[in-house]
Amino acid sequence: MAAHRFATTLSLTTALSLGAPFLGLATACTASEGAVAAETVPGGVKAPPAGDTVGAPGVGDPDFPQDGNGGYDVDHYGLKLSYDPASKRLEGSAAIRARAVQDLTAFDLDLHGLTVSRVTVDGAAAQFGRREDELTVTAPARIKNGTRFDVTVDYAGVPDPVRNYAGLGTYGFIATTDGSFVTCEPNGAKTWFPSNDHPSDKATYDFKITVPEGLTAIANGEMDAQPKTSDGKTTFAWREKHPMATYLATMTTGKFEVRTGTSDLGIPVYAAVDPAFHGSLDNLYTASAKITDYWTTVFGPYPFSSTGGVVDNYSAGYALENQTKPVYGGFTPDTGIIAHELAHQWFGDSVSITRWKDLWLNEGFATYAEWLWSEHRGGQTADALFRSYYANNLDPIWSYPPGRAQRADLFNGSVYTRGAMTLHALRKEIGDATFFALLKKWTAAHRYGNATTEEFVALAEHMSGKKLDGLFDAWLYQPRRPAPVT
Ligand SMILES: [Zn+2]
Repeated sequence: MAAHRFATTLSLTTALSLGAPFLGLATACTASEGAVAAETVPGGVKAPPAGDTVGAPGVGDPDFPQDGNGGYDVDHYGLKLSYDPASKRLEGSAAIRARAVQDLTAFDLDLHGLTVSRVTVDGAAAQFGRREDELTVTAPARIKNGTRFDVTVDYAGVPDPVRNYAGLGTYGFIATTDGSFVTCEPNGAKTWFPSNDHPSDKATYDFKITVPEGLTAIANGEMDAQPKTSDGKTTFAWREKHPMATYLATMTTGKFEVRTGTSDLGIPVYAAVDPAFHGSLDNLYTASAKITDYWTTVFGPYPFSSTGGVVDNYSAGYALENQTKPVYGGFTPDTGIIAHELAHQWFGDSVSITRWKDLWLNEGFATYAEWLWSEHRGGQTADALFRSYYANNLDPIWSYPPGRAQRADLFNGSVYTRGAMTLHALRKEIGDATFFALLKKWTAAHRYGNATTEEFVALAEHMSGKKLDGLFDAWLYQPRRPAPVT
């Protein structure tokens, strides 16, 4: 993901017209140099020491050592959830299908708060323990490397969002007056379901979410069945059949007005707004459809089976690109921010980062998409935007190299703006034809998977036939303003 956040004190219009990501509020994850690269197996899971049968408590992202877990890779989450806004109580049952990548006698899931009542592994009751945000499960029988296994976790309680972790503000499962606002970047999925909470382990999902009759429950993907109501409660079934990072999962619930249909290119569209944003529904629907269609011409085929957006009346002051359902927290989005969140469906959601330090692969690309959108609709060109940012030699982006997002300041404006400038500098160096072919090749080559900055640099060099290490080093890794681009 990448949250597109901006200071709530900053006027929205100002923030968006600057194309500025917003400032400050957030920080979070980073990964360190070469983090996962050397010692990982596919999926970014760290190879265990030989003979160890206990899955590691972290997936191997050195900047977020407790995030995710080692020893297995999740294929699918089946989540049954029931939420009561009056009591703020969540009841859940998670059915997780995973594949062991080492022999396992025990393994961890990430879970924050909530009370676990029962855990099974392959149908047999399993012992479990809790320590901080780790749920440790003892396998009733040794799980052999390479085998698939099923874990169920029954749990309940009042979800407690993550607060002030690494300066990131409040995120995860947030109770609202009429339901829940759920945006989880970077590691808030653990506040509402037990998971391998790191983007290097993507999985498919199905959701059955029960709420009081009259409310709507919105999750990722498409509705699997018509909502069913009995005894004053309605259950909504959603399915995301494409791999998804945990931080992109959502269960946004409450009173919503919904408009559905298909875009001109035939992509199903689901738009929903809190009744307080009644006047925004048609614009959200129309802009989301039109912009998704436009991005297919620039970035390649749309990776998922539907598009859309959700405006809730929780004043988060940011938007998050939840897969197929970007959510806008408490404001009417203009087309610039919609263009940003929908660009993330390609950059971040379909092609996901392997470690948080590469976050510019999400945010630099989505910010550059805002510039392309501005140019497309007759506003400032990408080149003019680049030049206006470059002209300010006092901008703090020059001291923050965007190629290494820092844990304590993860969503720094440099990751967005200087990340976008990196792409523009690349475009000037290799020419429009090669640059736009590269964007499509990148989204195709890593569709539904994970990628790293090194892979992007290698692809850019391969397609252009040029050595580009100097350009990328200056733009991504040096704490100073690069030489002018001609
Ligand atoms: Zn973003």
